Amino acid sequence: MVHPSSTSSSINLEHVASCALPTPWATFDLHVFLEKSSGKEHLALTLGAVNDGQPVLARIHSECLTGDTLFSLRCDCGTQLESALKHIAKEGRGLVLYLRQEGRGIGLVNKIRAYALQESGADTVEANHQLGFADDARDYALCGPLLRHFDVQSLRLLTNNPRKITALEELGIHVERVEHVVGSTRFNSNYLATKAHKLGHLLPQGSAPVHEASQKQAISAITKK
Ligand SMILES: [Zn+2]
Repeated sequence: MVHPSSTSSSINLEHVASCALPTPWATFDLHVFLEKSSGKEHLALTLGAVNDGQPVLARIHSECLTGDTLFSLRCDCGTQLESALKHIAKEGRGLVLYLRQEGRGIGLVNKIRAYALQESGADTVEANHQLGFADDARDYALCGPLLRHFDVQSLRLLTNNPRKITALEELGIHVERVEHVVGSTRFNSNYLATKAHKLGHLLPQGSAPVHEASQKQAISAITKK
């Protein structure tokens, strides 16, 4: 049992089991945790000794079924996850937390509703607002007990998301950002530009918004296939 802290006292998280997970890049240790209040199953992948007190190369990844497993090019999630696993494998040491908060926290059904709204011209933030959700409903409080389970207090975090860094620092985790710009495609350039301009993600200047028509062309090219 992981003991909750004052900042995450409502979280009742239980480590259930661990096993080896061979991947094309390394054999990770896979750990499953049960969040009792929601029944959600959260995962962690570790490689090497992460509890030695040194900063740990890490990715904190929120579930994206379409991007992580269905090869969607609407977002950059699948590429970010793969790149993080490769990067960690190359160093021989690191940690991925895989949090079950699909669709920036709004769930799979609403994410697909939001995609449909985006095909009518809304951007990713406007679509969330039209459905009555915040632009980013993710909650990182769970990272507190998860990281404590592995005795990790300091991360070299693969991220472009300053909100994630702030949330972790508020949990008492020391965070050094490692730039993680991958997965830009002609299908997700507007999505990435919106993340940069409306959600404050730290993406390079090249992520300027492309003309909406080219996004629509790209999407209709996908849907016609
Ligand atoms: Zn995604």
